[in-house]
Amino acid sequence: MACEYSLKLLVIGIVQGVGFRPFIYRAASRAGVRGYVRNLGGSEVEVLIQGNVENVHKFLHLLASEMPPPARIEEISGEETCIDHLSEFKILPSLTGMGRRSMIPPDIGICEDCLREVLEPGSRWHGYPFNSCAWCGPRFSMMYGVPYDRANTSMRDFPLCEDCKQEYSDPENIRRFHAQGISCPNCGPKVWLTDSKGLKIQTKNPIATASQLIDEGYIVGVKGLGGFHIAALATDEAVVAKLRDRKNRPSKPFALMALDIRIVEKIAYLDDVSRRLLTSPEKPIVLLKARDKHLASLVAPGLDVIGVMLPYTALHYLLLKSTKDKFLIMTSGNKRGKPMCIDEECAFRELSSFVDFFLLHNRRIVNRVDDSVVRLTEGSPVFLRRSRGYAPMWIRVPLVFKKPVIAFGADFQSAGAVAFEDKVVLTQYIGDLDDYDILTDLERYLEFFVKVYRINPSNALLVVDKHPRYTSRLAGVMWSRKYGAEVIDVQHHHAHAASVLADRGVEPGETRAVITIDGAGYGVDGAIWGGEVLEACYSSFRRIGHLTYQPMPGGDAAARNPVRMLIGVLSRFLSEDEVVNLLKKRNLIDKLKHGEREARVSYRIARKSVLTSSTGRVLDAASALLNVCYARTYEGEP
Ligand SMILES: [Zn+2]
Ligand SMILES: [Zn+2]
Repeated sequence: MACEYSLKLLVIGIVQGVGFRPFIYRAASRAGVRGYVRNLGGSEVEVLIQGNVENVHKFLHLLASEMPPPARIEEISGEETCIDHLSEFKILPSLTGMGRRSMIPPDIGICEDCLREVLEPGSRWHGYPFNSCAWCGPRFSMMYGVPYDRANTSMRDFPLCEDCKQEYSDPENIRRFHAQGISCPNCGPKVWLTDSKGLKIQTKNPIATASQLIDEGYIVGVKGLGGFHIAALATDEAVVAKLRDRKNRPSKPFALMALDIRIVEKIAYLDDVSRRLLTSPEKPIVLLKARDKHLASLVAPGLDVIGVMLPYTALHYLLLKSTKDKFLIMTSGNKRGKPMCIDEECAFRELSSFVDFFLLHNRRIVNRVDDSVVRLTEGSPVFLRRSRGYAPMWIRVPLVFKKPVIAFGADFQSAGAVAFEDKVVLTQYIGDLDDYDILTDLERYLEFFVKVYRINPSNALLVVDKHPRYTSRLAGVMWSRKYGAEVIDVQHHHAHAASVLADRGVEPGETRAVITIDGAGYGVDGAIWGGEVLEACYSSFRRIGHLTYQPMPGGDAAARNPVRMLIGVLSRFLSEDEVVNLLKKRNLIDKLKHGEREARVSYRIARKSVLTSSTGRVLDAASALLNVCYARTYEGEP
């Protein structure tokens, strides 16, 4: 028998856990081609199609134009072959045992189809807060391990009912066929409402009641997808003041969630890129210029930007839909310096003094996943926090690691990472490691990656920051003792430079000039660096320039108090009395806790203080001099 024209495709990208195989199956039947599709492990899918040229083209057109929204093709390669006639198109079992590593899929915001089902009266999912499908829903936040199968997620507590089972097994059901996280009101998780102590409140519709309570000015803790939020009115000064007071959070801006893009437009100015980001499956918080007339001034004091996101689960959508404003403060549910709560025990312990009520559900959150935060710089998105929706997707870099790497990051606004082959897997946002629970989280998620990606720590290279007092460094050193692994320390800004090189696709061995504009990092000369011009490649760097060294009177105290930093800068060219007089003239003396005495002491110790080339500290000093800001109560302020 003569062989027939066939095309074998290797598709690389986000093609697993997003309904890609059912999509291929359907595209093949619509195009009238035969063949198969199968997962190869890793992030690769193999597709074989057989048919006449016209139908093969039809298939390729469907592949390009009707892909499931969260799927992304990074690379596609094809090979024409001629093989025996196939009778049908099949989904073959995943090819395992090839030693490839499976990507952990990130959490995906609710898709339009799922939302429509939730809002449609008469639909099986009407009013159901956990509706999801192959194209959307929680992933990483509910995974105990890989591969992404229901048995490896917290949805294993909710066996499928007959209706769901039928949809799961129906290859024609493109959104639910083989979708691991699906459920319905009959078989899925449930919501309920409690007071701040966890005492259940009787109500037919816990979500609508929660909305009503928020409208009345109460503050409600909401268990969501990757952790708890604290929800409150964003239009009522008294409510926002109450929340700030309870959270002991004087000025750090609160994030907002708005029902839909029309509502965002009412409270902020939008451009096309922001609009696309907000509505993307990742649904990050996007920083936008506020239209201030609608918001309480205490939402983001002193700033003209606000962080806004859209609802990324049906639960959030239903909650917002029933409120009068259609947008709310949705700030992360954590005590200052602590990780966001992911279970009821933490919520009752840490959040009950902040909130009046809790809206809870019984799907376990396995992995904490904070909201991602994105800002536009020169019209392009830049991450301030890469977490939900993005982490822990791996990032391919233009170099190959000779052995696996486990990296412990720095201490502030931190994330860890593992690396192997040509891939770097960053953890989700972890936080500031001066807290023990956050340090524990860093180690826990690194251990999770080590297990999932089958890395042997004894055989890995451990990477820590050069700062001798960083907790992350200590953790890395402990791991190296425990596993007998090699540990190397990396200068903070060389690490920043290397990540920019990778971002720009610079090849190994090539050198570039890199400018790092930063708050603080330990320099090789013992000073605190942060305004550096480096000539860098991946393996080494040379410092070719930096901002002038300024003394930081009292070290970290000068980082917290910009007036002290200003005294340090001025001490280099003014006398003690001149500095004190200038501070008096600018009304800055009383911004120091101990007034003039502190000013004089700061001046005198400046000569012997640690030196810094930090850009952040120079800007701090300038903002104090200009009477813009006198205290840093959160990272990034002033
Ligand atoms: Zn969906
Ligand atoms: Zn069901």
